[in-house]
Amino acid sequence: MEWLHCANDAPTNACQRHYKFVILTRDPWHRGTIGVMKILIVEDEPKTGDYLLQGLVEAGFVADLVRDGSTGLHQALTESYDLAILDVMLPGLDGWSVLRGIRKAGKDMPVLFLTARDHVDDRVKGLELGADDYLVKPFAFSELLARVRTLLRRGAKASAAEFLRAADLELDLLRRRVTRAGKRIDLTAKEFALLELLLRRQGEVLPRSLIASQVWDMNFDSDTNVIEVAMRRLRVKLDDNFEPKLIRTVRGMGYVLENPDCA
Ligand code: CA
Repeated sequence: MEWLHCANDAPTNACQRHYKFVILTRDPWHRGTIGVMKILIVEDEPKTGDYLLQGLVEAGFVADLVRDGSTGLHQALTESYDLAILDVMLPGLDGWSVLRGIRKAGKDMPVLFLTARDHVDDRVKGLELGADDYLVKPFAFSELLARVRTLLRRGAKASAAEFLRAADLELDLLRRRVTRAGKRIDLTAKEFALLELLLRRQGEVLPRSLIASQVWDMNFDSDTNVIEVAMRRLRVKLDDNFEPKLIRTVRGMGYVLENPDCA
């Protein structure tokens, strides 16, 4: 049995209509004390925004809809969300800037981009800025819902985890300790952050630009070899004296941590 509670906040201006809906549900993967997942939608196109809001609410989520980038960013930073859906082309700040602001503030909620332009560049840019997935408009709602659920499961797992593991490598997030085959490995703060990123996204080839933005909080500059140097040191510590080798360079693309147990 589920029930719906719905309240419309008074609009403060034409662009800043803000709705709140709450559905309580017994869906087993929902978390939190009242068991609701909260999603922020930033979409200026009225029909798409309303359609997303209604669909997500019917699917059992709490959803806030805002219609411009600045409000979207403000909302993302002042409220707590489990996921954000961002349109790219927005009045005020565009979707890229909203995402940049969210990541800069240290918020790691999953972000799904909606892009009307089916350009590889756009998708790559979004992913490099720290987006987790994208959908090209027009999309079927069922597709969006599937992506949202996958991202939320991934996010819930990541935030609930105290340990990240691959083969006999273990990273203890609370004690900030790393062991391989039970042996303690001392890492610098950057190496630890780098390894955490690789472990969280194990099996994915991570481009240098993504690593630069997530670990060093800098725009990728091909003149610097800071990533190569750190990666080399990390591999010496993690892989030199152990088998199997976990970190691999993918030429021209980036780095991947491969878990042999998942191969
Ligand atoms: Ca738009």
